[in-house]
Parts: sequence; structure tokens; C-alpha cells
Amino acid sequence: MCVLPGHGSMEVVVIGGGISGMASAYYLSERDGVEVTLCEQGENIGSGSTPRAVGGMRSLYSTPVHVEMSLASLEVWNGFEEEFGIEIDYKNNGYLFGVRSRTQYETLRGDIAMQNQLGAVTEFITPEEGTEHVPELKTENYMAMGWDPAASMADPHACLQAFSQLARENGVQILTDHQVTDVRQDGAGRARGVEINGGEREIDADYVVNAAGPWGHRVSAMVDVEVPITPKKRMTAIMNPEKEVPDDAPLFIDLGTGAYFRPWDMDRILAGGHFEDDDPTVDPDNPQSFQDTVDLEWADMAMEALMSSSDYFGLDTEIVRAWSGVYAITPSNHPIIEESVPGFVNNVGHSGRAFMHSPASGELVAEIAVDGEASLVDTTALRTDDGRDTRRQLPIPYTKDTYD
Ligand SMILES: Cc1cc2nc3c(=O)[nH]c(=O)nc-3n(C[C@H](O)[C@H](O)[C@H](O)COP(=O)(O)OP(=O)(O)OC[C@H]3O[C@@H](n4cnc5c(N)ncnc54)[C@H](O)[C@@H]3O)c2cc1C
Repeated sequence: MCVLPGHGSMEVVVIGGGISGMASAYYLSERDGVEVTLCEQGENIGSGSTPRAVGGMRSLYSTPVHVEMSLASLEVWNGFEEEFGIEIDYKNNGYLFGVRSRTQYETLRGDIAMQNQLGAVTEFITPEEGTEHVPELKTENYMAMGWDPAASMADPHACLQAFSQLARENGVQILTDHQVTDVRQDGAGRARGVEINGGEREIDADYVVNAAGPWGHRVSAMVDVEVPITPKKRMTAIMNPEKEVPDDAPLFIDLGTGAYFRPWDMDRILAGGHFEDDDPTVDPDNPQSFQDTVDLEWADMAMEALMSSSDYFGLDTEIVRAWSGVYAITPSNHPIIEESVPGFVNNVGHSGRAFMHSPASGELVAEIAVDGEASLVDTTALRTDDGRDTRRQLPIPYTKDTYD
């Protein structure tokens, strides 16, 4: 077995059966001579947060690397159903941001100029123009809007299944009930494979990819790289609004309150947000330990914020169903995509973006492992300083925007 990138056969183990792992496995398997095994600790793929996501994808971001990851990913998502013939409930409804403060106004205007320079078709519009997309907005509460007509939404569960189907067709072995309990390294420190379920089995590899989401820091610690990932709980709910939200309405985010909503099925909407500076704690040693519940206090705050956004919401708005999931957050709010030690590639820390950015992150993983370097986007802002996240200087201006 040859371990030189780009030459001969290569065996890769991907850890994690969420969207980051499945997209990584798929893009690796697209390369000649690469054999991929994906290990998922759960009984099924999608045991983490992927099926709990809201499914939004957009280029309205405040740092160039996120915009570039979005543009590259949207190109894939946009043509996905046609190219692969698999339904992912893709809707090109756009994204609308509502701005309430002078600071957000100036910041968003500058960000949209940056996004446009990178090729995004985002626009800075008036609240009145925003009502062309979300008719019942309370325009008096907003100073301006950010509009992304190329932004979209899809069903994250369907997207995960689609990538898994494509990966399997390319020969990827997907092993569930396979928890990676150690990463084996040779004398020089290069990753050489993984140990499964405490030694039940070992799998050799030339590359090991960590796509373990909120467990990413635990897997990375197996090669003594302490990646700074904190698991944080996020909640969302299906609601019956008081007035029907058009089926072609965009995903709306109120940057002032943090509330968002998007059309769902059967005239319902999916809504949520993050309203407090304090994050509900999730045991970092066991991210799955979070209570899959939505507390009443959160529901109250969500409803209050939604009612101030538009006339779709009022005292008779019903919550039909609610759930929660976990974001994997880094101090700089940027993911870590790098070969952290030889043969060990991290693809973790995506916060609220792993779903939308999975085509780009998967391709970057394939480039790093097979080509020896990333080229899809400049990954400087995605790399750590020996595991330390020294990237705090990256601007995170939307104080309530949990998606940034
Ligand atoms: C309410 C909510 C709304 C969201 N909305 C959006 C959105 O609109 N757009 C967007 O892009 N993102 C959104 N997100 C974020 C998105 O869900 C996550 O970023 C994404 O699902 C993370 O994918 P992942 O594959 O990195 O991790 P996960 O989906 O968590 O998958 C990690 C997998 O690794 C497995 N694993 C862990 N450790 C091991 C091990 N040792 N061995 C084997 N397997 C292991 C886990 O079991 C899990 O299946 C939202 C999240 C929430 C909670």
C-alpha cells in the first residue's frame, strides 16, 4: 500500500456518520485509488446533529472564508437533484436578514460589499423591499435588510442519505456500531489506523479523518491534539403560524433578536433562535447527554422575538413539535480543516454551518489527503496553531447571530 498522496492506492478511515463525515467519504471516494471506510459509533448514520438542522444555506457571512465555502457548496447543492437524481427537498427560496441597530447596519453593508467582491449576489435592501419576500414583516422594527437570492434550503436528513448512497455506490464501506476508541500512530507519530470499540477490531489506514462533530475534541485528543471545541445546545420548533407564510418565502433571520423562521410543510413553519448569552451546557465528555427537550423559557423568548418580527405570529401561534441538537463551537467561530498531525485530518468545529458547508469541507478533506494541500478555498483561517485556536481576531459582528 502506497501512502504518498496522489500516487497508488490509499486507505482512509473517516470517523463520524454525520454530514461532514459522509461528504468527506464521498469526495475522497471520487478520487482514483482511494478506498474509504466510514465508522459511525451509533446504530445508524445521522446519530448526531445532522438530522436536527434547519437546512439553511447562504452566502451572507462576515468573513471571506465562510462566503467562499458557501459559494462552493451552493454550486453543488444547486445542481444536486439534477446531477445525482436524488431528491433532497431543495428550495431556492433565498435568505433575508433583518437589521435593527446602526452597528449591524454598517457591518452588514460592509459585509455585503465583501461578499459581492467574492462573487455572491447578496444585496443590501430596505425593509419595504424585504416585504416582497416576507410580506408580513413588521418593517417599522428594521433599519435595513440583507437579501441573498441564491441562498437555499434543503432537508438535511435527505442530504445525508443522498451522500451515503453516492458514497456506497463508489464503494465506501459504512460501518455503524463502530466507535473509534483510539487512533493508532507509528513511531514517527503518523496516524496509521483506528481501534474500534475498545479493541474489538483494528482498521489500518493511510489517513484518518476526524468528522466527529461535537465529539471532535475527544477524537482529536487520541492523537494528542487538543482542538478547542465546545458543544452547545440549540433548539428549534415546528409551529402553526397565525397567518400562512408563503411556501416560497426565504429563511428569515432577525439579527436584532436572533429569531429565525422558514416555511416547512403543511402550511407550518420551522422557527427558533438563540436568545441568551449563556449557553445551555452540554457535557463535553458526552455531547449526546444533552436533554433533547425544549424548555418553556426558550419557547417564551422565541415567541416574543417572532411576534416582534412579523404578523405571522401572535398569542394563538401553536408549537407543534420541538427538538434540540448540538453545535460544535470553536473560540473563533470558524471550523478546523487541516492535517493536524501527519495522516490525521480534522474536519470539525463547524458550529451552525456543517450542513450547508459539507460539499466544500468534504472536497477540502479530499484535497488535503490526496493532493497534499487544499486548493478549493484559502484555508489559512481554518487552521489552528498546533491545536490552539489563535484565530480570535476574526470579526464576529452579529452579536445575536448564532449562524455566523
Ligand atoms: C437546531 C439546529 C439548527 C441548525 N440549522 C442549521 C442550518 O440551517 N444549516 C447548517 O448548515 N447547519 C445547521 N445546524 C448545524 C448542523 O446541524 C451541524 O453543524 C451539523 O449537523 C454537524 O454535522 P457533523 O457531521 O459535523 O456532526 P454530527 O452530525 O453531529 O455527526 C457526528 C457523528 O460522529 C459520530 N461520532 C462521534 N464520535 C465518534 C467516534 N469516536 N467513533 C465513531 N463515530 C463517532 C456521532 O455519533 C455522529 O453521528 C443546526 C443545528 C441545530 C441543532
